[in-house]
Amino acid sequence: MGTNKATSVDGNKTLHAFFKGAVVPMDEAKVSVMTHALHYGTAVFEGIRGNWNEEKGKMYIFRMREHYERLIRGCKILMLDIPYTAEQLCDTTVDLIMTNGHDSDIYIRPLAYKSAEVVANLKLQDLDSDFTLITVPFGNYLGTDILRCCTSSWRRVDDNMIPTQIKSAGIYVNSLLAKTEATLAGFDEAIILNQDGHVSEGSGENVFMVSGGKLHTPRIEDNALPGITRDTVIQLAQDELGMDVVERSIDRSELYLCDEVFLSGTAAHLTPVVSLDSRDIGTGEPGPVSLELQKMYFEIVAGRNPKYLHWCTEVTPVSIPA
Ligand code: PMP
Repeated sequence: MGTNKATSVDGNKTLHAFFKGAVVPMDEAKVSVMTHALHYGTAVFEGIRGNWNEEKGKMYIFRMREHYERLIRGCKILMLDIPYTAEQLCDTTVDLIMTNGHDSDIYIRPLAYKSAEVVANLKLQDLDSDFTLITVPFGNYLGTDILRCCTSSWRRVDDNMIPTQIKSAGIYVNSLLAKTEATLAGFDEAIILNQDGHVSEGSGENVFMVSGGKLHTPRIEDNALPGITRDTVIQLAQDELGMDVVERSIDRSELYLCDEVFLSGTAAHLTPVVSLDSRDIGTGEPGPVSLELQKMYFEIVAGRNPKYLHWCTEVTPVSIPA
């Protein structure tokens, strides 16, 4: 089903993982059923993309450092004590990509987790932590270029329930419920409101709206994840399109009546939303601002725009003979 399934093989190559401090074949990277994170979702993770540039024969990892900085912020909140700096995590990632010898787009999934094999303990301070990392081939996550969305009946958790500015594993039950509900009802993605009824985000994406010639996006205080793609879009809209970007609370009906809506996220890239709750947004076609930003974004993430190369880490993968 769909094209969004990441697998543990790349063509004929067996992939390797970074696990318990060493690079091992994926089959050997296994945890016990007693693992705390498996029972309680006590983990934080990141989703980072490596974009394959065929002409250059190189992989471009987009804003890797910022992803690891967010992971480390999550580790602090969940008391996940891992012995690596953001810089070391970046180096480990580059090494693993080289080992795996990918030559197509990949998803990079670091996970810091409570590795203690103890199940009846709810004290974060008592539990050992570990870090693991996988890199897998990855295509179009959403499986479509335009999105028909619905407003979810699930509300986004509030920051004082589970912190919303970090990617903790447990919080994704909220996203999964919303995405499952939307797709079973025939929509592509869910727009999730917060407890106050304001637009918060998608199940794995931030939301943007074009209205009155400005770009609007929910405030982080409306429990949206501070997305790295969100930050990228804000900078590009301001610096390249000269647009005003307004971070504010947005009501559901504003989305019905605006000119354009799009979602942004590492997996989702920048994808236009053409309808919400079966009402066309704008003309019902992707709008000019969405398409312009999307075009710029795709050039930048694949290392094709020299001005933004500082956002990319260039890797030349070399496959290790089996
Ligand atoms: N919100 C949620 C809930 C997400 O899972 C993601 C994906 N990480 C985003 C927003 C977008 O964040 P980013 O642009 O950093 O991938």
